[in-house]
Amino acid sequence: MTTKMPALYIGHGAPPLLDDSLWSSELAGWSANLPKPTAILVISAHWESAPLTIGATEIGVPLIYDFGGFAPRYYQIQYPAPGAPELGARIKALMGEPVTEQPKRGLDHGAYIPLMKMYPGADIPVLQMSIPTHDPEKLFEIGKKLAPLRDEGVLIIGSGFLTHGLPFLKDWSINATPPGWSLEFDLWAKEVLERGAVDELMDYKRLAPGMPYAHPTVEHFAPIFITLGASTNAEVAPETAIEGYWMGLAKRSFQVA
Ligand code: ZN
Repeated sequence: MTTKMPALYIGHGAPPLLDDSLWSSELAGWSANLPKPTAILVISAHWESAPLTIGATEIGVPLIYDFGGFAPRYYQIQYPAPGAPELGARIKALMGEPVTEQPKRGLDHGAYIPLMKMYPGADIPVLQMSIPTHDPEKLFEIGKKLAPLRDEGVLIIGSGFLTHGLPFLKDWSINATPPGWSLEFDLWAKEVLERGAVDELMDYKRLAPGMPYAHPTVEHFAPIFITLGASTNAEVAPETAIEGYWMGLAKRSFQVA
């Protein structure tokens, strides 16, 4: 019997997360408290492509080292998770619109960095799907269509960063004091999420303090709307699993019922 899975929105950090014992243990502790998924679907900030596209469904397609300026060892990372062709077929059936395939596209770091801590055995099939739009309402609708997968044991992960004003960071140390725009945006999002005010969250460009500094480009926030769309119980507020800051950026991560 499969157990219904929550849907997650996570901050995925950068490769140095792998050496951060606090964040690593937070991610590992989170997944340890979830039922074991039958498969994992990741929608990462690092893959924007329209129309909706699914990535590799076979094992052995190389990872994408889509980051620069880090230690050489991070470019040797492996995460040989099985492919998820059945999940790919299910997504096509659920979407009711054309879904493109890129069978040679491996996982990007928005997927494998957190998964290396959450599911280090790499024994659960993983599929990545693109972000086809930045429109919160359209993303929310995509999440809604994906929601039935949760009953099939699929863990849906929207992977971004709750604040991501990289051009405005002055201190790149892991324990940097969060800039005002990061702190204010994070606390606003926390409060809005607790109230379940998805409509306000969708209007973040106008309503959120700290904009546009918190998201000068919005791809790291966009996956949040797919996660929220995949909620099947709007009465239950999202449950925070991780909070705090990393290089001043908010690593707030949560699950929806
Ligand atoms: Zn990123």
